[in-house]
Amino acid sequence: MFFDITIVGAGVVGLSIAKYCSESGMSVVVLEKDSRAGEGISSRNSGVIHAGIYYPDKSLKTEFCVSGNKLLYDYAEVKGINHKRIGKYIIASSKDELEKLEQIYKKGILNSVTLEFLTKNKMKSIYPDLNIEAGIYSPSTGIIDVPELISAIEGDIQHNNGLISFNTKFTEAQKTTSGFKILCNDGNDFIINTKYLVNAAGLYSDLISKQIDVLDNKHYSSIKYAKGHYFKYSGSHPFKNLIYPLASEFSSGLHVGFDLSGQVRFGPNITWIDDIDYSFEESLKDNFVESIKKYWPDIESKKLQPDYVGIRPKIQKKDEKMKDFSIISSKDHGVDGLINIQGIESPGLTSCLALGEHVKHMINSTDDALT
Ligand SMILES: Cc1cc2nc3c(=O)[nH]c(=O)nc-3n(C[C@H](O)[C@H](O)[C@H](O)COP(=O)(O)OP(=O)(O)OC[C@H]3O[C@@H](n4cnc5c(N)ncnc54)[C@H](O)[C@@H]3O)c2cc1C
Repeated sequence: MFFDITIVGAGVVGLSIAKYCSESGMSVVVLEKDSRAGEGISSRNSGVIHAGIYYPDKSLKTEFCVSGNKLLYDYAEVKGINHKRIGKYIIASSKDELEKLEQIYKKGILNSVTLEFLTKNKMKSIYPDLNIEAGIYSPSTGIIDVPELISAIEGDIQHNNGLISFNTKFTEAQKTTSGFKILCNDGNDFIINTKYLVNAAGLYSDLISKQIDVLDNKHYSSIKYAKGHYFKYSGSHPFKNLIYPLASEFSSGLHVGFDLSGQVRFGPNITWIDDIDYSFEESLKDNFVESIKKYWPDIESKKLQPDYVGIRPKIQKKDEKMKDFSIISSKDHGVDGLINIQGIESPGLTSCLALGEHVKHMINSTDDALT
């Protein structure tokens, strides 16, 4: 069996790469160990289409988030994927947060994001029940139905004769003169030959890297897991938009989010863990209530219920500065035909189509490109 490109992982990243590569005429197979696409990080997130406000101006996170935001809205329109340009307020709920809010505003403007700075009075007229000293409004932030997005991309891949092989685990890659020999298991061991190999395995990207015989371990990071919990709220509430309070010591800011049915939820917090483990720590509820009360004093604790958790694939340790997406090719690691992708945490969902296009260009610009 031969494919031009073999992609490990059918999350939004691997699927988007497969979509663009199959569109340009390459033969593509996506290997996915689970029985369905997107069961990893891609189905355990906030479902927010971000605007690209917070990230450093010359980073891949900003570049792909800003261009991915537009690509995703356009794609959702064309494919009829349920989505809503719901808008987001970033809020300071005490005076000592004002300086930080202003810095975020400046960063967003530097990143060419449309934003509006709102005074306390203006915020009070929009959200009279919340404690807000000032806010920033981002009109291009929205939400998207992730399962619908995943189905649409899968449909495109199939339309382009690409293959998604479920229940198929990548176990090893050996370098050959013309590409790679890939060892897989779908209950039985079998081999695929391929010219290009893309590691888009999210939380498992370090393990996959290790299983590529010629990739030196100095060229990849071990993944650190940062779990995020979400609680849903069952009572009446004042929220009409996404609300992002500034980060506190306890969390990266317990956001107010929605799904497309209008269910409101709070989170994610951040808990560093040693292993991939989706259990829910219900004892966090008191911390959540305390943190939410800072901006919404009327929250009723009994109406807050555990919802779900997601795990961020961090390439930096707990106390290290945020790192950029890592998308590296032979010019970085010296292995022809290999694209190794790590650290695709938020805004990875927003960025997925931009990232898919980028990887297609990386492959097309190699010396012995296929197309
Ligand atoms: C709590 C949380 C909230 C987030 N919120 C947002 C948000 O609101 N907006 C936003 O833009 N981004 C958000 N993100 C980020 C976004 O969800 C991720 O960046 C994105 O889903 C990553 O997709 P992926 O395809 O890289 O990983 P995954 O979806 O995890 O896909 C990787 C796939 O590889 C497969 N795999 C692993 N090992 C093997 C193997 N050996 N063989 C075959 N298959 C294998 C896995 O089964 C998995 O399906 C959030 C992330 C988290 C954790």
